[in-house]
Amino acid sequence: MCPFLFKMKRYDKITEKNPREIVLLRGTGCQWKRCTFCDYHTDASSDANANFALNSAVLDCVTGELGRLEVINSGSFVDLDAKTMQKIRDVAIAKGISALHFECHWMHRGALNDLRAFFAKDRIRLIFKIGVESFDIPFRERILKKGLGNATPEQIAAAGFEEINLLCGIDGQTASGIRADIETGLAHFSRVCVNVMTENTTAVRPDKKVIEAFMREVYPLYQNDQRVDILLQNTDFGVGKRE
Ligand code: SF4
Repeated sequence: MCPFLFKMKRYDKITEKNPREIVLLRGTGCQWKRCTFCDYHTDASSDANANFALNSAVLDCVTGELGRLEVINSGSFVDLDAKTMQKIRDVAIAKGISALHFECHWMHRGALNDLRAFFAKDRIRLIFKIGVESFDIPFRERILKKGLGNATPEQIAAAGFEEINLLCGIDGQTASGIRADIETGLAHFSRVCVNVMTENTTAVRPDKKVIEAFMREVYPLYQNDQRVDILLQNTDFGVGKRE
């Protein structure tokens, strides 16, 4: 286990389904910040040196033992400072990481190729994940305010995203609609991560009836699917817990 202690747990290992190490780094914060259900963007600082000091210590926890590393931060990889990006690269090379996962908002999709160029000589596969939350465009854009416009699954995949986040447990959703979103996700992307809504500081509240219907009718179908992660709590990947 990583010897460093942080106020928030920022390093862990995911041993089931697509085993990988995971780090929760800190950047300047999500530039979108409008998703109605999210208060995750508060994990940010404008102090690049302080961010690098924190991120560097977290990255020192990486052992490379699983060959894959997922890097998450509040927002997109573009919000991480240059020294942190260099350290991710150095650690990945030194520890024999063959695949790096990053998250990115739709507004920064043009930056995916920049990151590919940054890692071009390293034989490290880059995998980009995007928070789609739902393929029901009116729900996604009017209620959740995700900022993907009218982007279709085909357009999202064509932009270079291989993995998606979906959100479930909000008023207005149904078990059949959530299942349809998962099926669409599996048809166009390599992996789907379903996040069940939990209480946070936003006005959006988890809807108990929707979550119960999801648990009863949808969860059993995908519980053992190796391409589907289901986070019943948003800290189920191990990082993000207060220590
Ligand atoms: S893009 Fe992500 S971090 Fe930013 S507000 Fe939306 S859910 Fe939160």
